[in-house]
Amino acid sequence: MFNHRHLLGIEGLKPAEITALLDRAEAYADRARSGTAPSPVLAGLTQINMFFETSTRTQASFELAGQRLGASVMSMAMQASSIRKGETLIDTAMTLNAMAPHLIVVRHPHSGAVNLLASKVDCAVLNAGDGRHEHPTQALLDALTIRRRKGRLHRLTVAICGDIAHSRVARSNILLLGAMENRVRLIGPPTLVPRAFAALGCEITDDMQRGLEGVDVVMMLRLQRERMDGGFIPSAREYFYRYGLDAEKLRAANPDAIVMHPGPMNRGVEIDGTLADDINVSVIREQVEMGVAVRMAALEMLAAGATAL
Ligand code: ASP
Repeated sequence: MFNHRHLLGIEGLKPAEITALLDRAEAYADRARSGTAPSPVLAGLTQINMFFETSTRTQASFELAGQRLGASVMSMAMQASSIRKGETLIDTAMTLNAMAPHLIVVRHPHSGAVNLLASKVDCAVLNAGDGRHEHPTQALLDALTIRRRKGRLHRLTVAICGDIAHSRVARSNILLLGAMENRVRLIGPPTLVPRAFAALGCEITDDMQRGLEGVDVVMMLRLQRERMDGGFIPSAREYFYRYGLDAEKLRAANPDAIVMHPGPMNRGVEIDGTLADDINVSVIREQVEMGVAVRMAALEMLAAGATAL
């Protein structure tokens, strides 16, 4: 059903595999809501989390997901590890490999680093975000949130707004939403929206009002200043004026449109704080909730292959 050794990206996943993973995650989400403990399907397995870049939601969510399924979970403090002493990524991988974990969850600031690591170790690797490349579990949790709120995950119009250029969240979502036959509209200043995405079937506009017309889902992105090496925007104030989502701009979208954000949010830069907290339109908290469920499903599916190695 899920025929992959690793989860490195949305690229390469078939629609049926995405649906299977979301179905499993949805069952975990329902169980969590009803207060039923899941079966410890990862009992006896070791999960190592290696975050070479800071994370709040994703790291906590992977830890909880592994623990809820009974795995032994260890999170390495990579800032304090031998990496600082000059060890290469491959050396670190080989050291961890010798400890024979079953699952490794990796976040890294460089695109492609997680794929490289996966090619060197004997266990299943889950990409928790690599540079501006992919963040597959984020796109899956977004997809599950959309499916629950909209009742389907196809033939929707989804606007992804803001800093597309530096965003692995945008890339993974574009791939997933495209694979499930949705319309994807990218909105942002030309400096932050690479035209190359048109080749993936996305519509592109720098006009927020026009871009939001008739959309079912509005996905806002953080300005990824840590990945910007020049002046991509005039000022945060002007950016908010043109591209920050507030209740007024949202009026252009469908009346039942939902608002999403992967976090961490810059309130008053890409999104108005009051709108982000408005439970009638914002599903940001549900995204976090679905994150744990999706990661449980992903760990379980990969472990099924990993234990058979
Ligand atoms: N948390 C997401 C990521 O790691 C989004 C962001 O940082 O803006 O890519």
